[in-house]
Amino acid sequence: MRRKNKQSSSDPVKNLVSKTDPVRFCVISGSSIFGLEDYETTERSVETAYGRVVLDIVDVHGTKIAFMSRHGKYQCHPPHQINYRANISALNQLGVQFVFATGAVGSCQPEFKPGEAVIIDDFVDFTKNRDESFFQDGCTVCHVNMTEPYCRRLQEQFTAKSKHYEQPIAGKGTYVCTEGPRFETRAEIGFYRKMGWELVGMTSVPEVLLAKEKGMCYCAVAMITNWATGMDDQPVPADFLDRISALKHRLNQIFLAIFTEDQLTQDGCSCNNSLLHL
Ligand SMILES: [Zn+2]
Repeated sequence: MRRKNKQSSSDPVKNLVSKTDPVRFCVISGSSIFGLEDYETTERSVETAYGRVVLDIVDVHGTKIAFMSRHGKYQCHPPHQINYRANISALNQLGVQFVFATGAVGSCQPEFKPGEAVIIDDFVDFTKNRDESFFQDGCTVCHVNMTEPYCRRLQEQFTAKSKHYEQPIAGKGTYVCTEGPRFETRAEIGFYRKMGWELVGMTSVPEVLLAKEKGMCYCAVAMITNWATGMDDQPVPADFLDRISALKHRLNQIFLAIFTEDQLTQDGCSCNNSLLHL
């Protein structure tokens, strides 16, 4: 593992620099983070034009990594009321360039089963009342390219590191984002299934496209927690929550390994060059 020298706590100049150093890496999740007890963690409150965001900065062998609960560290905003613009704006202010995001999804296809991890490689947006752009309020006309909403390079690095850690990945899938908070009807899921879309959830949009507007490389890994409506009426196994917790922990370890061991650059993707200003 690549290690960096720690800042000396007795050197005021170095301490000043460390406070202003950019935090280039972030993990966004839908619940509290655990398994990081061995690392120094600092809570950070970030004021943005869209509101205040509280997150944690974890020092992993000298590499600073932001950990954000998208629903709020101390609140629990439901998916349709998450302040997505504040969250991504806060990460941008910290200097974040690379994001791994996780979230719970339902499966619309029999080949993707509860308990499995799936890389999200595209989305279909059925949300209704969300602020989906940093450019919707003013007179600036700007469009963001959605050819590859999820960073292909980060996907490749996640796939390689998962093999190294012997973590099975079920494949890649298209994510249908619904408004919530209600679940989908049988007819809606039947439509998604016939279209060939694999996953359904409530939070990846607009998170991914706001990250793209800020030039970040963003990769999302979904954890399948249930069959979508009408797919299956089997009861959930007794150990299912433990399996999901274990999966979440392993994914976090893989994200940390990529951030601390790999040399990440934005040279091989278009994430930092996706805006078209008119
Ligand atoms: Zn990228």
